[in-house]
Amino acid sequence: MSAVQVTVDYDAISANVEILSSRASRADVMAVVKADGYGHGLIPTAQAARQGGATWLGTAQPHEAMLLRDAGDQGRILTWLYAPQFPLAEVISRDIDVSCSSREVLEAIAAGAGESGKKARVHLCVDTGLGREGVTPQQLPALAEALKKAQNQGHIEVVGIWSHFAWADQPGHSTIDAQAATFRAACESVDSIGLEAGIRHLANSAATLTRPDDHFDMVRPGLAVYGVSPVKDPDGKNFGLTPAMSVSSRLALVKRLPAGHGVSYGHDYVAANDTTVGLLPVGYADGIFRQVSGRATVSVAGMRHPIVGRICMDQCVIDLGPETDVRAGDEVVLMGTEGPTAGDWADAADTIDYDVLVRFGTSMQRESRP
Ligand SMILES: *Cc1c(COP(=O)(O)O)cnc(C)c1O
Repeated sequence: MSAVQVTVDYDAISANVEILSSRASRADVMAVVKADGYGHGLIPTAQAARQGGATWLGTAQPHEAMLLRDAGDQGRILTWLYAPQFPLAEVISRDIDVSCSSREVLEAIAAGAGESGKKARVHLCVDTGLGREGVTPQQLPALAEALKKAQNQGHIEVVGIWSHFAWADQPGHSTIDAQAATFRAACESVDSIGLEAGIRHLANSAATLTRPDDHFDMVRPGLAVYGVSPVKDPDGKNFGLTPAMSVSSRLALVKRLPAGHGVSYGHDYVAANDTTVGLLPVGYADGIFRQVSGRATVSVAGMRHPIVGRICMDQCVIDLGPETDVRAGDEVVLMGTEGPTAGDWADAADTIDYDVLVRFGTSMQRESRP
């Protein structure tokens, strides 16, 4: 048994995808399962997402797409992040759709298709303002022409056109309208050279939840699949989503400390009064952000208690206060319905929910997944 338990509610993932599907109405849903399903475990997450109605799965890296095929997934999958040197023949031969942002990658795709003896299904990626993946609008016509030529030669089939938002988690931000307009113009420009671009997709979680006009033919939620919303629900109901990940541990030791006693390396914390402290066998090697000392709380029997003193590699100390019934062996909820949320940790660590999920999931799950 490991010191920390990460539990994932895969039914919640299915239910979240159902909610996202109903929000997307006519659009297909691609559940984004990159980074080991945002730390929730690639394969079970993918299976749960399929059960919830995800007609597509998306991974940044092709090796994760191939792991999905290895696990028997036969549905549509898109992968979008690789250097031109990546051996794409295998990806293509396994019916995984690929993204293309440049001439170099197009050449690699065409070569991979030739080698595999299969047509590559390609999604043209346009940079509508994010400044990350995608061809710029200025270079779009040239790339679209090259894609059309490769399609005519029989190497590839262009089946989609897509882009990604920079600031959709701030509803009303001017870049959202601007990117959507640039995307529409890109679709038209591709159309005008006689290339049928197929499935248009732009929306991440935030846009899936708040921008129905920008759903196009498919939405690509990630974070919301895991029950965490990147935007506030005006109705205060988290859009009906249920966080899927919870994290717990048990106290290794509970003891009294007198007033004036320092806690952990460097005595950053000194007990102001007589108190009781609990030793939690979880530290920064397990994914707890080292900088959250004094700012994060955990929950024991429904009560919040602060992490105090420096967080060590594999342990940290919580202050249980002078009067407590808590004993060694009692359960501590680090994240869950009865405890802190990913957002609480993100605030304490000055980061984002995404980072919390990936870090907790990936660092802690080694032994902890049932
Ligand atoms: C990560 C990612 C998504 C999902 O974003 P969320 O904000 O988690 O919904 C969608 N598309 C691309 C290209 C991504 O990299």
